[in-house]
Amino acid sequence: MYSFNYLKPVSIEDAADLLSESDEHKVISGGMTLIPTLKQRLARVEHLIGLEKCGLNEIKLDGELLKIGAMTTHAEVSESDIVVMENPAIAELASHIGDRQVRNRGTIGGSLANNDPSACYPAAILGLGGIIHTTKRDIKAEEFFVDLFETALEEDEIITAVSLPKPDAAAYEKFPNPASRYAMVGVFVAKFNSEIRVAVTGAGEEGVFRCSEIETALLKAFSSESLSDITISADGLMSDIHAEADYRAHLIVEMAKRAVTKSARR
Ligand SMILES: Cc1cc2nc3c(=O)[nH]c(=O)nc-3n(C[C@H](O)[C@H](O)[C@H](O)COP(=O)(O)OP(=O)(O)OC[C@H]3O[C@@H](n4cnc5c(N)ncnc54)[C@H](O)[C@@H]3O)c2cc1C
Repeated sequence: MYSFNYLKPVSIEDAADLLSESDEHKVISGGMTLIPTLKQRLARVEHLIGLEKCGLNEIKLDGELLKIGAMTTHAEVSESDIVVMENPAIAELASHIGDRQVRNRGTIGGSLANNDPSACYPAAILGLGGIIHTTKRDIKAEEFFVDLFETALEEDEIITAVSLPKPDAAAYEKFPNPASRYAMVGVFVAKFNSEIRVAVTGAGEEGVFRCSEIETALLKAFSSESLSDITISADGLMSDIHAEADYRAHLIVEMAKRAVTKSARR
């Protein structure tokens, strides 16, 4: 690890100012991804800007939307009464991220900023049509996730919170990598009044994506049986040591079926 200074600003405005001073400055939330990257000398920073004193871990209802502060840990999301009541699929998703240590440190803001192609939250935020709030603007989920580990965030932009609409029914199912618990394939299904949204993580060569074939089938009938004849093309899906693209294509349908069944039980 190269040496660096650790700064703890006490407001998000101060954090944003510090971040904008140099390309060599980076924010840190839970550090679950950034610290190993620094330890392996894959990144070098002059100042690490800790967000822990910036007051970004509030969970509240903002009108019809559930608003979760960027520094809220996965454990806090999974145990929050408001989340359990308003959007139980999010609470459940958070409860299955990584292991206990990761859930106690990793944050929703860090996860979204990192946009790991196998991370769980991107599927939920895209599946629900959430809004990512930053120090500069509000970004729709559709515009936020750009490519593998790439988002619409500018170098000096910090996520402050995420807002999520309440679905009529929703659930997330993942086929976890047995070692890391990251999704080999994860599918988030959300049913709204006149819309079905299905987002897939862990499979796309360009990261999280919406699956229109499954959305169309579920719009006709919101049941796992309506996915029985669906086949997803392996084009554009990842092949790696964990799974071939056609296996991932198969898993997308299976995870979607399980998610639909689970959402109906809520
Ligand atoms: C062993 C292991 C297993 C895991 N399993 C899963 C899993 O099953 N599912 C899953 O979804 N995730 C999983 N994760 C990822 C983990 O849950 C964290 O979400 C992830 O590490 C990033 O969150 P963090 O708060 O630790 O971010 P950090 O490591 O602090 O930061 C990550 C990156 O985001 C930037 N950043 C952080 N916060 C912000 C912000 N507010 N605004 C702008 N940029 C920011 C940082 O500069 C850095 O580049 C796993 C991680 C580990 C180590």
